[in-house]
Amino acid sequence: MRGAEDRRVLSFLGPRESRFVERVFRRFYEENYRLLYVPERIQEREFGYFTFGEKIMVRHLSVASEEELWRLAVEAAPLHLHYSAAFYRYPKAPMEEKEWMGAELIFDIDADHLETGCGKSHDFKVCPACRTPHPRDSETCPSCGGKLMKVEWVCELCLEAAREEARKLLDFLQLDLGFRRISMAFSGNRGYHVVVKDEGVLGLGQRERKEIADYILGVGLEPKAMGLTARSVDPETAPDLNDPGWRGRIARAALQLASQPSAEQLHRLTGDPRAWRCAEEVEALAEAWGEKPGWNALSLGCRLLLFKAAARLSSSHIDSVVTTDTHRLLRLGNSLNGKTGMLAKVFDPGALDDFDPFTEALALPMDQEAEIHVISSPKFRLGDQEYGPYRNQRLRLPLAAATLLLCKGAAFLPS
Ligand SMILES: [Zn+2]
Ligand SMILES: [Zn+2]
Repeated sequence: MRGAEDRRVLSFLGPRESRFVERVFRRFYEENYRLLYVPERIQEREFGYFTFGEKIMVRHLSVASEEELWRLAVEAAPLHLHYSAAFYRYPKAPMEEKEWMGAELIFDIDADHLETGCGKSHDFKVCPACRTPHPRDSETCPSCGGKLMKVEWVCELCLEAAREEARKLLDFLQLDLGFRRISMAFSGNRGYHVVVKDEGVLGLGQRERKEIADYILGVGLEPKAMGLTARSVDPETAPDLNDPGWRGRIARAALQLASQPSAEQLHRLTGDPRAWRCAEEVEALAEAWGEKPGWNALSLGCRLLLFKAAARLSSSHIDSVVTTDTHRLLRLGNSLNGKTGMLAKVFDPGALDDFDPFTEALALPMDQEAEIHVISSPKFRLGDQEYGPYRNQRLRLPLAAATLLLCKGAAFLPS
């Protein structure tokens, strides 16, 4: 039972597929180890990795130099490779003896947590025993009664949503908080990682990190503090488009929401059934709004609902747990992600708008092919080449595409 459970977590359909992808990863690291991101103060970091064999993390490792890191990657050919955002006096020691000396401030954005609604169209399940596809809401295989494995896909829409959250996050970090040394990476699957390396953040504890996360998530924003709960809103104290920080964000988002009032959007953002009535109210007053948020024209209830919607729209949906954890291991930049065979590509934050994950994170060969049997796959793109949709098909694909499907558990090797 335990063994079957483990294989499912690894997501390969069987040991042959796992060994095949391991060989592909090993060759990649033998040829490309120099690509790996080398973190500053490398000898003070903890390293860890997952092997292809078992679902356990080998951790509490340290490397003295980039050469040692390269050797580690080539020899281990890991499924996933991680390093600590923290610096330790003794990175190899057990947790309680490491002696924490500070940590970079990290952020994780995952398309999985965003409400894109497209999961329905591209996620599904497979029966690892029968090797058949099933709808994503089924639990057990109708033929053999076995537990089904989830196959989660990532489409352009998912990645666009993640990019938008990353864009907002960068705004908070650069404009509001004034951080200068920021590095950024695609996760190799469906999100982005952002690391702040400014000297000033390194010593922050969990509580201070939580406060930063809360600020970015808009936790505890008070409409009262922005003068919006008064019977008659004073335009002098109400949030204005050019105000710095959250006030400007609220004003701009409110104006954006009011310019094309949509009850569905207001409801999605607030979960409040009064969204429909409020959308009508906003629409009726659209004229009065003009170039500035006309808070005063709205009833108090609608004002507060619009405030809530604007806050939700402007916040960046980071994973607070990751940011608050001062001992977190994160995926090493420019290593391969074992869920996809794509690169956790490091890039300049200024290039976020033009970053194309399906091209720039493409790391495995496109000029070699592998024969696989695809159980099911939606249409997807690598570089400028489109593949699929496939259903129960044996075919030859470029190694990068074949590896992606094997990693997701959507394909197996023909015997
Ligand atoms: Zn089955
Ligand atoms: Zn999607």
